[in-house]
Amino acid sequence: MVQTSRADVVIVGGGIGGLGSALALARRGLRVRVLERAAEFGEIGFGLQLGPNATRILRSWGLLDEITERGVLPGRLVMRDALDGTELTHLDLADTERRYGAPYVVVHRSDLHAVLVRACEAAGVDLVTDTTVMDVEIGDDHAVAVSAGRRDSGRLVLGADGLHSLLRGRVHPDEPVSSDYVAYRGAIPMPAPGARITPEDVVVHVGPYCHLVQYPLRHGEMFNQIAVFRSPKAMAGEPDWGTPDELDAAFARTSEAVRAALPHLWRERWWRMYDREPIGTWTRGRLALTGDAAHPPLQYLAQGACQAIEDADTLATLAGEHDGAGDPDWDRVLADYTDQRTVRTARVQRTARTWGELWHCDGLFRAVRNALLIDRDPADYRYIDWLYGG
Ligand code: FAD
Repeated sequence: MVQTSRADVVIVGGGIGGLGSALALARRGLRVRVLERAAEFGEIGFGLQLGPNATRILRSWGLLDEITERGVLPGRLVMRDALDGTELTHLDLADTERRYGAPYVVVHRSDLHAVLVRACEAAGVDLVTDTTVMDVEIGDDHAVAVSAGRRDSGRLVLGADGLHSLLRGRVHPDEPVSSDYVAYRGAIPMPAPGARITPEDVVVHVGPYCHLVQYPLRHGEMFNQIAVFRSPKAMAGEPDWGTPDELDAAFARTSEAVRAALPHLWRERWWRMYDREPIGTWTRGRLALTGDAAHPPLQYLAQGACQAIEDADTLATLAGEHDGAGDPDWDRVLADYTDQRTVRTARVQRTARTWGELWHCDGLFRAVRNALLIDRDPADYRYIDWLYGG
């Protein structure tokens, strides 16, 4: 017979969202277990941008110094036209510390992940690998994560199992929505002969149905590039979409500086881009969702992981506020969690889609966009205060 093992909180999925929640809740004195299906905790080797809304929280967890030591504090966020190379607008990132109380940091995903794993271990989180959760039994005052040979019962089970979340299906019946866009990535050592780069900035080159993002990693020892484009084969409903021939065709009209990035991308693997429609609740009984399982956005605002970190902070803060002698009133915690998080993350998801349309426009729309952006005052924060201010 399979024994049931207990914790206060059982978290399914050990990505940035799951580990962030594990750490935040363990710091509140709760016994937390993370179940991860992979053989070890880790992330694929490319970069991640962290806005001040996330770095402010990482600082409150005591992790920001270690993360910035491994990352880069870029000077500017720059937007360029991918066809003619014109600089359209920029944001001075030195302002983020002054205005939002925390820096803008770019970091290698595996570095951030390693910092979180170590902090979880130090906080006493039980980290379990090689465990694929196949079902969850939902009760009024507990839930049980069921995997081969294990039953893990918690007063709360938290689904942090990503975009294709199994646990989301127990809360809401929907599927990921394909954007028909695909991403190619490449984190390369520096110097990289032939690559045309600005080593101190985060630069996005926006073009018709395509864009390229570039930024430095690890003190400038590495350089991160992401090329994204709309796949004609996806739009035609063909199953084999996003192949390298489509990458080359999508960027054929772009400037020489943009095309110089293409040979430095990994061509053996690509990522099809999905999000989901926002939903009004992420909980059912003592099951709750977080991170991409709850609110996966398209990546255009660079906020998916940042929002998962915000979820973690909110959940742990509420667990502290509704604490009854070390045992939070989870019904109140989850009601407030839903109230405080669903509208904000829905705004992120919707804005990310709109942002994609603005980046990828062509013809007259592109000309109007460029004219408006060139006139933009770089000190105008009205479109980002809501996001970075939190
Ligand atoms: P995931 O990272 O998907 O983790 C889910 C974990 O659950 C995995 O470890 C998986 O193995 C595990 N798992 C799944 N199913 C099970 C199961 N049944 N049992 C046990 N374990 C399971 N965000 C930013 O903030 N800044 C950026 O710059 C940024 N850039 C991006 C660029 C691209 C191209 C893309 C695609 C996304 C980007 N994002 C960015 C978004 C960000 O990567 C995600 O939002 C974030 O990683 C989600 O974390 P998560 O922990 O919720 O999910």
